[in-house]
Amino acid sequence: MRQEMPRQEPKIRAKNFNEVALGYTAEQAVAEAKRCIQCKKPSCIAGCPVEIDIPAFVALIADGKFDEAAKKLKEKNNLPAICGRVCPQETQCEKVCVLVNKKDQIAIGRLERFAADYEIKASPLHPSPLKMERGTKGVRVAVVGSGPAGLTCAGDLAKMGYQVTMFESLHETGGVLSYGIPEFRLPKKIVHFEIDGIRDLGVEVKVNTLIGRTLTIEDLLARGFKAVFIGAGAGLPQFMKIPGENLGGVYSANEYLTRVNLMKAYLFPEYLTPVKIGKKVVVVGGGNVAMDAARVSLRLGADEVTIVYRRSEKEMPARAEEIENAKEEGVKFRLLTNPTRITGKDGWVSQIELLKMELGEPDGSGRRRPVPVKGSEFLMDVDTVVVAIGNNPNPLLPRMIKGLKIEKWGGIIADPVTGQTSLTYIYAGGDIVSGAATVIEAMGAGKKAARAIDKTLSNR
Ligand code: FAD
Ligand code: SF4
Repeated sequence: MRQEMPRQEPKIRAKNFNEVALGYTAEQAVAEAKRCIQCKKPSCIAGCPVEIDIPAFVALIADGKFDEAAKKLKEKNNLPAICGRVCPQETQCEKVCVLVNKKDQIAIGRLERFAADYEIKASPLHPSPLKMERGTKGVRVAVVGSGPAGLTCAGDLAKMGYQVTMFESLHETGGVLSYGIPEFRLPKKIVHFEIDGIRDLGVEVKVNTLIGRTLTIEDLLARGFKAVFIGAGAGLPQFMKIPGENLGGVYSANEYLTRVNLMKAYLFPEYLTPVKIGKKVVVVGGGNVAMDAARVSLRLGADEVTIVYRRSEKEMPARAEEIENAKEEGVKFRLLTNPTRITGKDGWVSQIELLKMELGEPDGSGRRRPVPVKGSEFLMDVDTVVVAIGNNPNPLLPRMIKGLKIEKWGGIIADPVTGQTSLTYIYAGGDIVSGAATVIEAMGAGKKAARAIDKTLSNR
């Protein structure tokens, strides 16, 4: 049987920002690792986009060699404590574990978190065991964006001996890891520790630098960078385009979570962040972002938080674990329901009109299409609405690069194997290419691009 993850009690955790999942004890980790049958031809490695040698690190944990397990992880993954927390393991490595047929797959993500946390506890101040000289090859590469795609590409290139500079438009590194995912799922100290590890590999980090404005891609090439990797993410929120969406008290999930994370509303009352949370909050959407916005609202003092989603729970894109966590904490779900307008008083939202839906035939995404039930509109009192229905790539940078081929929806077109764009020395990966996806897919794209950049630059 899989070891259960110890967690804070729902009633207590719904009122604080401390981490919900507490991590395995050493005894639990060894017991879980010992269940691994060490397949001769393991299938789990192929399920991991950054190609971790899963059986090897699990065997080291089973032997009590926790430090060595952390080193084994870091051979392939620059961010194991982050992945161990937020990776959708159930659709990645754990999905292809042979024990999945018995519904008893090894808890690979939890073990990854355990080993990575062990390293953090053992050496909280660093330096990383992999601390390296900067850029022994003497060849400069620029990385745009410091989210998981950029961090992985930068870390891997630095390990290969390139002189890497990572440019970030915000004052804080980490991308969504810092400004999107809340403290109770991914503590900032974990993100900082692992980004310090990337710096220890010799990566130079320049924050407050918006590529496309502060510096152009042409400036970077003129300054001697031989290749550029773009990992600028998908930070442009989509809206419902219904009446009332511009009333006070209606937020995009991006803005809402950024205020809570980067402007530190989660440290109230130490930080008096300007974010107005009402007593009745509606969050529109069914993904991880919607679950995060709903759970943040509870922690900031809302009495009633309702997720409004136009399909059924089965079609929800959020991780099952996060839906469960939200329900346990008291988030209500209004499924098969879609907003049609928002009404207000004195410029602020006061009610939301919702329309009932039923499921029709599957659409292009393979999920059953929601069909409106005529005349089923009803009103709900509300004082905050958070729109979490998806994000598109930020259009600034792709549009600024002459000759760069882009998709109609704004994503950069890049080779799926190498990340190379329509311009020879420009590579791209992560959400800016795939559209909003996952941390590990962005990291996988960063890894592939680092390999391809090395191939191109070393052939010259
Ligand atoms: P990002 O993380 O978006 O990073 C891009 C970075 O580039 C940002 O820091 C941005 O400021 C910077 N940038 C943009 N333009 C420029 C420019 N012109 N110049 C310089 N810098 C620039 N995925 C999971 O796997 N599990 C989860 O639990 C999960 N939860 C999520 C919760 C939320 C609230 C959100 C929003 C997303 C979540 N995701 C989750 C998705 C995941 O975080 C993203 O898929 C992933 O972060 C994409 O990585 P990226 O490196 O491509 O982009
Ligand atoms: Fe699994 Fe993600 Fe860890 Fe890879 S990084 S082994 S996919 S949990």
